[in-house]
Amino acid sequence: MPGLASFAPCLRFSSSAWSRRASRKGGILSSPGVTMASLSLSINGVAQESAMPASQNSDPPRVQVAKRLEQFKTTIFTEISILASKHNAINLGQGFPNFDGPEFVKNAAIEAIRDGGKNQYARGFGVPQLNAAIAESFNKESGIVVDPETHVTVTSGCTEAIAATVLGLVNPGDEIIVFEPFYDSYQATVSMSGAILKTVTMRAPEFAVPEEELRAAFSSKTRAILVNTPHNPTGKVFPRHELELIASLCKEHNTLAFCDEVYNKLVFKGEHVSLASLDGMYERTVTMNSLGKTFSLTGWKIGWAVAPPHLTRGIRLAHSYLTFATATPLQWASVEALRAPDSFYAELIKSYSAKKDILVEGLNSVGFEVYEPEGTYFVMVDHTPFGFENDVAFCKYLIEEVGIAAIPPSVFYTNPEDGKNLVRFAFCKDEETLKTAVERLRTKLKKAVSLSS
Ligand code: GLN
Repeated sequence: MPGLASFAPCLRFSSSAWSRRASRKGGILSSPGVTMASLSLSINGVAQESAMPASQNSDPPRVQVAKRLEQFKTTIFTEISILASKHNAINLGQGFPNFDGPEFVKNAAIEAIRDGGKNQYARGFGVPQLNAAIAESFNKESGIVVDPETHVTVTSGCTEAIAATVLGLVNPGDEIIVFEPFYDSYQATVSMSGAILKTVTMRAPEFAVPEEELRAAFSSKTRAILVNTPHNPTGKVFPRHELELIASLCKEHNTLAFCDEVYNKLVFKGEHVSLASLDGMYERTVTMNSLGKTFSLTGWKIGWAVAPPHLTRGIRLAHSYLTFATATPLQWASVEALRAPDSFYAELIKSYSAKKDILVEGLNSVGFEVYEPEGTYFVMVDHTPFGFENDVAFCKYLIEEVGIAAIPPSVFYTNPEDGKNLVRFAFCKDEETLKTAVERLRTKLKKAVSLSS
């Protein structure tokens, strides 16, 4: 990537990158205090992982990573969460709720553990009752009738569903089309499979699908397109006409569609449409979802893939040799979760709308250009009114000086330049925390900016 040295993923958040980027245009906020020592933990991937005790009189062992992963680093979510706690910042970075899931689901897990008979390996592709509950909720959402025994595979979170799908259905050298910005695991998973990532960039403010670029991305080597709707990190909900376009290209080129729909219950504007529900698509689509976002139980790692039997076979084979099965008592509790009444989902949206409004209004009021999300629990903003050279410099300043952690979205692009003006905030936090965060932005961010201008 010519001209991108200062943005190369391998430099991101290394101590040198921090200090190099920690200056505002004009040097007003250059950070002499940023030292190797103060940021040693962010020398990720290398220093951090080689910090094991060295045997006497010898150099520390050389870090050895397989080629398929050597370009990747510790995830940005982990890095930012560590820095957030180090600087006592309010963590609006990694997307995890700071409140727990519903009591009825937690109690079901406790009972399942206590009951006896629900603590050994589950059936590899899922506890039958959970497969049935997933088939039922998929039917309710998409109108498609599926056989739980042959179309549904329970996995360890949607991340494993994506990995099992890609590893089980894609050959080395095949091409996979991914929209960027993209959730970080996609690129690593594609790399582990030996496939080739083809990206199509969606740009602010609309983050619309560029039709001609999408058409051009399809080739005879295209095996699949990966679609995430509602979309992390932009908060976009793919409109029906864009999904129709994707569907027609999939049919024209005889390609598969892998759909990550983990935020499908968090839609504030427009409607969530499953690609699988469009004409002629179910037979070529894997639809993936999880319990984590909808039920505020991200740590449970219960996910699933719904696909016709001819695709499920590959997914289940990969799943068998990746994790084999998923935590049995949590699967039992997930059956109860999926049987939640409609009022649960109505309440969820109500509560998340209020959270979104607090953060969106707050971000607007301090001067960000805000791209109001239609779904998910993330909001993207343009930070350039504050004059920082890029997202990494801005996020560093935000954590250290304002006490708010957010994600620098350049990590979600193959060309980090494309994300350098953006910042992603998460609003899956209680209202008090969000209000405190907005207050900090109002007092500290505004003050710092007015002092320096
Ligand atoms: N999905 C979460 C997010 O986008 C992060 C999950 C993780 O840390 N791997 O913030």
